[in-house]
Amino acid sequence: MKIEMVDLRGQYLHIQSEINEAMQEVLASAAFINGSQVKEFSRNLALYNGIKHVVTCGNGTDALQIAFMALGLKPGDEVIVPVHTYVATAEVIALLRLVPVFVDCDEDHFTIDVNQIEDKITPRTRAIAPVHLYGQCADMEPLLEIARRNHLFVVEDTAQAIGATYAFSDGTRRRAGCMGTIGATSFFPSKNLGCYGDGGALFVDDDALAERVRMIANHGQRVKYHHDVIGCNSRLDTLQAAILNVKLKYLDRYTEARQQAAARYDELLKDVAGIILPKRTENSTHVFHQYTIRVLNHRRDALKAYLAEQGIPSMIYYPVPLHLQKAYIQEGKGIGTFPVAERLSEEVLSLPMHTELTLEMQEFIAERIRCFVEK
Ligand SMILES: *Cc1c(COP(=O)(O)O)cnc(C)c1O
Repeated sequence: MKIEMVDLRGQYLHIQSEINEAMQEVLASAAFINGSQVKEFSRNLALYNGIKHVVTCGNGTDALQIAFMALGLKPGDEVIVPVHTYVATAEVIALLRLVPVFVDCDEDHFTIDVNQIEDKITPRTRAIAPVHLYGQCADMEPLLEIARRNHLFVVEDTAQAIGATYAFSDGTRRRAGCMGTIGATSFFPSKNLGCYGDGGALFVDDDALAERVRMIANHGQRVKYHHDVIGCNSRLDTLQAAILNVKLKYLDRYTEARQQAAARYDELLKDVAGIILPKRTENSTHVFHQYTIRVLNHRRDALKAYLAEQGIPSMIYYPVPLHLQKAYIQEGKGIGTFPVAERLSEEVLSLPMHTELTLEMQEFIAERIRCFVEK
């Protein structure tokens, strides 16, 4: 029994003929860039998300960068970001000469601690960039209310949470990435909706903003060779769009498989001492991009090493919070500034999670964890 962190090959084998056919069609047409499949996929994903515009691009990091470019922010403007996240969120902010302003996270759900946002707002604050980490939405209702009161844009990093839904107190439900000003996502192969290379997209409801996003992703041009604004070159190629068009049909089934696997982990690990299982919020569904446990008593690294010896992969997302990363150190923000994120960086461990995980594999993983933690 070979256990993988993510089993892309196993997933492909189930849809092999459909994928191959879709790819053959692209090869036969030779429309490798901007083929009809790109528009078709954008339309299908917009329908799935219940949003007006999906603009595809080269990868998730580009999607975030294009989002901030489209908002017309000026150097020195501040953007509030969670400190416990993948680097891309803060990277594009810094790259555009904006200032990432870090906020600690909620230790139960790993997402930005909404109660700490208002303290960080200054006259230069222009946007908040929540990250729907591990597959569960940040607490968007109060966050959007803070944004509204302070006239701030909201850029959602939804690279890990495509398909998750968030319920507002008035009963409306929205998809992850479709609640703020712009949503940015990634189709990196291991994401919940992954292609076979790089890919990304932006989710926008506003027509004018969508047009601006489209223009920026395409060298700042609306008419070929007429460049109205400074843009970049970021495209989802036709082969990837064709693959995604097939896989989008299976996204809900993939999400269910992940949720089932998560429920099985919950059951198998429920009474194991010394670990904390991932908690769900009331407002958001969880699409389990990661199933992330916390390992207490400074035993995380030892557990990870022990599991590796048993042939069980696991991953640490992320070992260093952003404020302690060399490239992102800010004056006066050393160790102790964001205690929750710092503790989580020493406790989190993501277990194998994918659509092909079997009960047998999970029983073995759980048994090995129990064996280590309780010895
Ligand atoms: C994967 C990821 C990204 C970046 O996506 P790429 O396609 O690899 O550029 C950004 N933010 C988060 C939270 C991610 O998980």
